Amino acid sequence: MTVRYRQICIIAVAIIITAVSRRYALYADEAEEYTVKLNVIRAFDYNLPVIADEDFYQILAEALRVINAGFLSGINLEFVDNGEVSIQDFFSSCDYRETEYYRSLAELRYDLQEPPDFSKSKYREALLEYLSLWDIELLRGFYPDKSIETYDDFYELLTETYTEKMEYLRDLAGAGGSPVITPGKDYHSRAGWTARMRSEKKYDIVITNALIAADIISRPNIRSILKDAKIGSEGFLSPELKPFSGMSLMVNIIEYYGGLEGISPKADIPRELKNRIIGVCSLAREFGHTFFRIPDVNDHPPGCLMNTGFHAVDDAEAYRKLSEALEPCAECHPWIEAKRRVIIGEYYDDLGEYDFAGTAYISALGRTPSNINGDYSDYRRHLLIRAREAYKKAGYSKGVDSCNRLLEK
Ligand SMILES: [Zn+2]
Ligand SMILES: [Zn+2]
Repeated sequence: MTVRYRQICIIAVAIIITAVSRRYALYADEAEEYTVKLNVIRAFDYNLPVIADEDFYQILAEALRVINAGFLSGINLEFVDNGEVSIQDFFSSCDYRETEYYRSLAELRYDLQEPPDFSKSKYREALLEYLSLWDIELLRGFYPDKSIETYDDFYELLTETYTEKMEYLRDLAGAGGSPVITPGKDYHSRAGWTARMRSEKKYDIVITNALIAADIISRPNIRSILKDAKIGSEGFLSPELKPFSGMSLMVNIIEYYGGLEGISPKADIPRELKNRIIGVCSLAREFGHTFFRIPDVNDHPPGCLMNTGFHAVDDAEAYRKLSEALEPCAECHPWIEAKRRVIIGEYYDDLGEYDFAGTAYISALGRTPSNINGDYSDYRRHLLIRAREAYKKAGYSKGVDSCNRLLEK
């Protein structure tokens, strides 16, 4: 062996060792430094009051503070500001209306101009199917003064309230005297938002002041029907968005900023406090649901952000209670640890270390509790597709095959 040949071998081995150890070192340390970037856009209805830049930054800062304090995830998050557009532009920038999904939602959409006849079997069947997921005892709790023996009894009461509240929303006028909801407009409709966000390709978080009617009859969200039949902040399925693993988040500020009779708090709340309340009760809590996929819980310590009890009181009260009690919740850790694996996968995807990325996604799936916020099978599918893509790029065909087999199940 010539000296020159030996030198080349040593250099080659050294390069390989350095590369391998570097990869492992990156796994342990640098993944911790990785920052998850979330694209935020403001989409405003200019018929209603909007928030200023300063309010927007306060909302984000308070949310970030509480997310870090409540979950102690060690995950670096950054909200990326994508400015402001009109709600009309936000909706027309995407051709979601051409989808089968949009048409399917139209079937059971509450039409404000022509209210549904709830004695019709298509409404009764769809809504009773949803209600059957609830324990009748819990449903009774929504109407403590009424006698409810059967799901049909509850159906009668709920649809009566639903019709009343929707009529109220339809006739509601803003400060200038013009209606705050235009019937038929998707940006005033939960069905419209659900379809629009399903086609979203860029924005993870949309902050809006639009009043949105809870018009998906088959999924009514009983609590909001009883309150005002509008939806507040909500996570949507957005299969193409990665940071929330196939979801997006809409944060709605109308309750605190709209000055709307029957919807906005009567008390005069300083702007800064409003922003903090929105940051915590809308953004941070919904973030726990969509980013970490933690469901509403009732067996975690009182300081846990995800406690379902906070839904039972108004946001100002929930904010006050949380400010006193907030502490990192150990019970939330299984979801956080699972999500951390997803982020390690993203980190490797960015580095071009695709075999590691695939393995991290599979490991995330293995650690994900079956009780998640949202649909478990959608989430599972999302992670398997990402693992498959990564293995494909790595040229690891066994990995691709096993993902395909799991996707068929
Ligand atoms: Zn919740
Ligand atoms: Zn918890």
